[in-house]
Amino acid sequence: MTIVTRFAPSPTGRLHVGNIRTALHNWLYARKEGGRFLLRLDDTDTERSTEAFAEAIRADLVWLGLDMDGEERQSARFDHYEAAFARLRSAGRVYPCYETPQELELKRKVLLGRGKPPVYDRAALGLTEAQIAAFEAEGRQPHWRFKLDHGSPIAWDDLVRGPQHFDPALLSDPVIRREDGSWLYMLPSAVDDAEMGTTHVVRGEDHVTNTGLQLQMFEAMGASPPAFAHEALLVGSEGKLSKRLGSLGVESFREEGIEPMAVLSLLARIGTSDSVEPFVDTAPLVAGFDFAHFGRAPARFDLEELKGLNTKIVHQLDFGAVRDRLPEGVDAGGWEAIRPNLATLAEAADWWHVVEGPVDAVAFDEETAAFLDRAEAVAADLDWSGDVWHALTDALKAETGRKGRALFLPLRQALTGRDHGPEMAALLPLIGRERALARLGRHS
Ligand code: GLU
Repeated sequence: MTIVTRFAPSPTGRLHVGNIRTALHNWLYARKEGGRFLLRLDDTDTERSTEAFAEAIRADLVWLGLDMDGEERQSARFDHYEAAFARLRSAGRVYPCYETPQELELKRKVLLGRGKPPVYDRAALGLTEAQIAAFEAEGRQPHWRFKLDHGSPIAWDDLVRGPQHFDPALLSDPVIRREDGSWLYMLPSAVDDAEMGTTHVVRGEDHVTNTGLQLQMFEAMGASPPAFAHEALLVGSEGKLSKRLGSLGVESFREEGIEPMAVLSLLARIGTSDSVEPFVDTAPLVAGFDFAHFGRAPARFDLEELKGLNTKIVHQLDFGAVRDRLPEGVDAGGWEAIRPNLATLAEAADWWHVVEGPVDAVAFDEETAAFLDRAEAVAADLDWSGDVWHALTDALKAETGRKGRALFLPLRQALTGRDHGPEMAALLPLIGRERALARLGRHS
């Protein structure tokens, strides 16, 4: 059996860290099992779905390295939903309802007021032909519900949550189609999963009840249902589903200089019993992927943890993996020298700029200029193969009595043209003797 998973976002916005995690788990499982990973665009809402968002979702998946084996879109499949709807309707599993939202809300309130679960009372099933004709004459269009089979208990063995049970009598018959004929998510998704051979539905635990309802739809359609894995939700480090998390996606990761592998390393493993490690390729994540390792508690996402992981990943990246993204002129040796000092790859440009120069000239007062002349002379006599920055500053401190900022700042300014920047101890050997002497003596 070929494993088929699918990632099913609605192209009504950009992907955020929560659905990136879902996409990743679907991808990891498919890759581990040698299966297929599909992108399914849930775009039945034709007003809110846009091609621009669909394109952005694809681009984000490409950036993350989650390659797809195919793409489907629901807006191209309305005829399949019509066909399933017609079959279910003639089997008596779909029925028209005429209640207005206000009437439904009132029913809910009455039930809740009596301490009862707000389950739809199926009043529409008792309408007479004449009542229906009267509604239609009034211009009311029906919405449509799927009729749950109360005699068939709902149960499945969830790959993350273990055995699940629902009593269908305690659930409302779900609305599957609106008055205007548009589809709600539930039926199209079940039709697609049945027709596309989805073997595993991996999604957030906010869909657990939907699964109960959809299992009855599979049954009613005579289709065998996929396996289900509902993962615990993602929360921010402060423990809440923060607004910030919903706006955090590939765009902000790129802005922060986060490598795709940092995102994957973190999202693959938070909320599981496996430790989060900085991996530079996906092989260990694929090999170690196991639903049995997923916990039931919410997974905590911490941006600082992501940044820390990113730093460790940058430190492991080979020249070959980054050469196209490095500034002109950085060779393998240069990369290895600056790599341990970087938190993000983008910082390489900063480093390279001050190493290569030319650096901006800074205006010094006379006394500082004299100090820098001494620095040039001292530096000329140093052993440049060792820790030249500490040798230089120690010697100048002893000779001039300068310390702290008065010692370090003019040296940094002369050597780099800036007040701040990378660690001087690491930078000075890269600048090298010749350039350093010229900058200290302000000859260049
Ligand atoms: N479009 C649905 C969502 O984003 C898909 C859920 C599913 O995976 O079935 O919630």
